[in-house]
Amino acid sequence: MLLKKSFKGGAHPPEGKHYSEHKPIETAPLPDTVVIPVQQHIGAPAEPIVKKGDYVKTGQPISKAVKFVSVPCHASVTGTITAVEKRPHPLGAKVLSVVIKREEEDQWFEDYSKATSIDDLSVDEIKNRIQNAGIAGMGGAAFPTHVKLSPPDGKTIDILIINGVECEPYLTSDHRLMVEKPDEVLKGIQILQKIVNVQKVIIGIEKNKPDAIKILKDKISGLKNISVLPLNVKYPQGAEKQLIKASTGREVPSGGLPMDVGALVHNVGTAFAVYEAVTFNKPLIERIVTVTGEGIKEPKNVKVRIGTSFKYLVDFCNGYTENASKIINGGPMMGIAQKNDDVPVIKGTSGILVLEKKQADLPEEQPCISCARCVDVCPMKLLPSHIATYVEHDLIDDAYKLGLFDCMECGTCSFICPSKRHLVQYIKYGKSQWNKKYRKAD
Ligand code: SF4
Ligand code: SF4
Repeated sequence: MLLKKSFKGGAHPPEGKHYSEHKPIETAPLPDTVVIPVQQHIGAPAEPIVKKGDYVKTGQPISKAVKFVSVPCHASVTGTITAVEKRPHPLGAKVLSVVIKREEEDQWFEDYSKATSIDDLSVDEIKNRIQNAGIAGMGGAAFPTHVKLSPPDGKTIDILIINGVECEPYLTSDHRLMVEKPDEVLKGIQILQKIVNVQKVIIGIEKNKPDAIKILKDKISGLKNISVLPLNVKYPQGAEKQLIKASTGREVPSGGLPMDVGALVHNVGTAFAVYEAVTFNKPLIERIVTVTGEGIKEPKNVKVRIGTSFKYLVDFCNGYTENASKIINGGPMMGIAQKNDDVPVIKGTSGILVLEKKQADLPEEQPCISCARCVDVCPMKLLPSHIATYVEHDLIDDAYKLGLFDCMECGTCSFICPSKRHLVQYIKYGKSQWNKKYRKAD
């Protein structure tokens, strides 16, 4: 089949990647304090296993997963626990968090330098290492990786797709990881391949990262069954369903999962974390974060410990510009605006974006002119204007029937709307109202 290397709908928001795409990853100095929420993943929160006053070493578990769909968290520095209490979380409400005051350089909980060959580990042992390391999807979705790697009986995976698309404007952490750590990313991919036992792997990368495409193509020459697929540049090319469609032609049904069409998608950052977890038994205590935007004096890609505050990272990038106005966890399309910079980097924080006032203000809404542009661009083939109107008029059931929950909140409709309707905001609100109405009794 001839693939179009893209999907229906989508848009081309300003990329903004030039601020950081050529900046090599820098390692931030260890912060004096880290705040580690026990809920950084989708699923059951992990339970703290430490208390105020405890001394912890870097890599030591500080919370445990009590259900299968959950992962533990680990101390990302060495020091004393000063609090276990609710603290602001970059995804919204306050969340139970472990606060560690660093007292010295790293004292490692275990020796994470000894490599184990994956040939010496069974599939179950590999999956245990991945769960024990606390890995949850690093592209932002934060779904526990070991769960995704355990499809239920009756579901067969025949293709593994590695998401190196990074279509969200401004963000470049995955791009730099592919350029600077291609061997490690590839080893992580091969571990994932072994777990799900698939013969075909596609690494999807948008064509605006020619250096990453070239490096990975060179690295896979001679490797059987792995290919690099350059994809057309279009937002949201990196969304799971759109990536599957573009790279295989398969369409995930409404309400369905990638495994319903035999596909499994993992982010390149996840592949890297899996490599470290399985090869060195190393827990997830750090990640790459792009700190960028017109409101940052010196945008950078930074390797940073989980739990480091946004403020610390902004300072590491020489601070805010004079007109900095809005700070976002993630990118401009799907990111979440923050009240302030006193929130921690979590496992899913791929970027910290700071915009200036003229970019940050939500434009004033005008009446819908029924141009249908939002319909044309919606990658989920929804009717965003109708859904938003129903929500606006409190007709949540009608919004639901039009596919309210099929919306992945990509923001493409809001971006394209000439009347600047706050479509995605209405849709998010509609989901919360529907949940309130129908899930309260769950
Ligand atoms: S309705 Fe949802 S999925 Fe469709 S464009 Fe808008 S935000 Fe994206
Ligand atoms: S793009 Fe905006 S103005 Fe056009 S139909 Fe959709 S909501 Fe209405």
